[in-house]
Amino acid sequence: MKDLIIIGAGPAGLSAAIYGIRAGLDLLMIERFSPGGQVMNTHEVENYPGFVDPVKGWELMSAMENQARRLGAEIINGEAGAIIKDKEKNVFSISLSNGKSLIARSVILACGSANQKLNIPGEQEFTGKGVSYCATCDGAFFKDKVTAVIGGGNTALEEALFLTRFASKVYLVHRRYEFRGEKILQQRILANNKIEPIYDTIITSIEGKEKVTKAILKNKSTNEKKDLLLDGVFIFVGYSPNTAFLPEELLNTRKEVIIDKNLQTKIHGIFAAGDMRENSKRQIVMAAADGATAAMNAYDYLQEMG
Ligand code: NAP
Repeated sequence: MKDLIIIGAGPAGLSAAIYGIRAGLDLLMIERFSPGGQVMNTHEVENYPGFVDPVKGWELMSAMENQARRLGAEIINGEAGAIIKDKEKNVFSISLSNGKSLIARSVILACGSANQKLNIPGEQEFTGKGVSYCATCDGAFFKDKVTAVIGGGNTALEEALFLTRFASKVYLVHRRYEFRGEKILQQRILANNKIEPIYDTIITSIEGKEKVTKAILKNKSTNEKKDLLLDGVFIFVGYSPNTAFLPEELLNTRKEVIIDKNLQTKIHGIFAAGDMRENSKRQIVMAAADGATAAMNAYDYLQEMG
């Protein structure tokens, strides 16, 4: 039996491991893909303190993983399912998709979030054939090609800028006249002559044969539709928390984990950190801070339980 099981090895989970191990907890991490989380798909990070120049997303996360491993973190590959509390013994049983289960005295949920889909015709069909949710991963396939980025938040703006390294043209299709993303990114977007913003517009379908050849756009004010000939559509319209495996009682209406000021969920002994919890600002530095806080509070909880 472990003192603590951390589900998820992104910035929140890895930071929780670093703090948990240094507090003397016997812990184990479970990760369903490879460690690093969404940041692995981010080309460069400019706002994580400690780096004078932008750091590559994978570099930052590899350093966090190596730091956790150097301290003794064990990360196993697996997907968590039901978490059941034995109220008499105050222990948790976490079932894994391979049929096994793990026992721990406390749990930190740090499962992050996943890309939101547009759910329009052609989106699923052409995923991997011109439709992408990761410019860092797929941008290089679009050298001298015409692309569109959908969305107006920080992710869309950053990824549109990144795509200009490869694509000959990047349309930035946004459903309003004002971008949600930071002003500094907006200025860089407007100054980049490869990027053409298309405001007040939504994308209604993605079409092609073997690969994407066009998108159908609709102006929201006039309802006018037009074909946009292109080779790739990059979709960045937000994220949804990875909470499908958790009981409804732990979640709010947006499917985020409800927490108290100690990052503890409604079940005593289960904590939540990072993008999957309510009121997350979805920043790497905040996910890392959450992980540290959750680990320290898990330590206090374990001390209390004796
Ligand atoms: P976001 O801030 O939620 O922005 C999503 C964008 O997609 C919005 O512009 C939204 O339009 C648009 N959108 C949503 N649903 C849509 C739909 N069905 N059709 C068309 N457009 C749609 O998501 P994000 O950009 O992924 O960022 C998420 C969080 O991570 C934010 O808090 C952000 O600050 C943070 N983040 C930070 C950084 C950084 O600090 N460098 C980088 C990436 C992300 P509306 O504006 O009209 O709602």
